Amino acid sequence: MILTERKVPFELMYIRAFSRRVEMDLKGRRMLSVLESGYEGEQQYDKILEAAGHEGLIVFRDIYVKAGDAVAQFDSIIIDGNSVTVNEIKNYSGFYSYVDGQWFSGKFEVTEDAISQLKLAMGKLKKIRYDAKMNFDVRGKIIFPNLDLQFDCDDERARSMVVMRNQLKEYLESFRSGGISEQSKEIARVIYRKIIENPYFDKTADITVLRCGLYCISCGSFDLDIQKYYAYCMQCKCRESKESHIIRGLSDFKALFRHDKMTRQKLQVLLGDQVSERMLQRMLKKYCETFSTGVSIYYKFKYYDYDDAVNKEPRNSKYHLGLKLFK
Ligand SMILES: [Zn+2]
Repeated sequence: MILTERKVPFELMYIRAFSRRVEMDLKGRRMLSVLESGYEGEQQYDKILEAAGHEGLIVFRDIYVKAGDAVAQFDSIIIDGNSVTVNEIKNYSGFYSYVDGQWFSGKFEVTEDAISQLKLAMGKLKKIRYDAKMNFDVRGKIIFPNLDLQFDCDDERARSMVVMRNQLKEYLESFRSGGISEQSKEIARVIYRKIIENPYFDKTADITVLRCGLYCISCGSFDLDIQKYYAYCMQCKCRESKESHIIRGLSDFKALFRHDKMTRQKLQVLLGDQVSERMLQRMLKKYCETFSTGVSIYYKFKYYDYDDAVNKEPRNSKYHLGLKLFK
């Protein structure tokens, strides 16, 4: 039983939307690729867990938990009977080693220490256990879901904390409980109550450095021929409904200006004034909740992101969302 679904992390959402509208420098591009790769590794892990089956288990995916004054992020927590297992997922690829307590990628030292991170996360669960006066086992493993990883390790203890991709299915299948017990539910309730939103992410983009307007989802080009219902990409020749463009605009606005109130005017600026007021108004009504401060009206996107909106919205209108080549 999956209690919290994995979603695109805020930081990745932000940098994806940002990278569409600015020329990224090397550091930014590297950050984007690290985040994409991390998310991809987590999705791989989720797939293998789905295949292994999780009936009888309670699973938390990608949560931030407050324990005392500190906050910890967990990629995955599995509750099985009376034991709680943390899985710290690292999508490393290439050649990695752990020698004399230090991680290396090829010959280069890696500052990130997966073992410390895992221990820290386990420590937070122990703190929760202590505070709640409960009694459950806390376990943990570092998961390497990437098949393209060669890992050398001279430390038996560290080695025993790692699950490689070729062992992952068997490892996840080894969780075998006789159904979800009352005790598991109680542990899950205690953890659930401690979940908070990611407190570390507070980036907001500067609209003046962004390229505004609609862009092609397929190739990223802003060179579009915008007609009544569709926008045609002059570069890759694909056709996308304007409705789809506007949903992406709403999703991008949320990602780029998380703490800003979205007004129709601000959204119109991001969209480069390329959509008629009437159509925008209709889309805001369909995809957003409306709020009023008394002096102004602002909107909140009803969905987590573009994909969430497209998956939940019935596709029965003439503005259907699919991409199509027109040449
Ligand atoms: Zn294109």
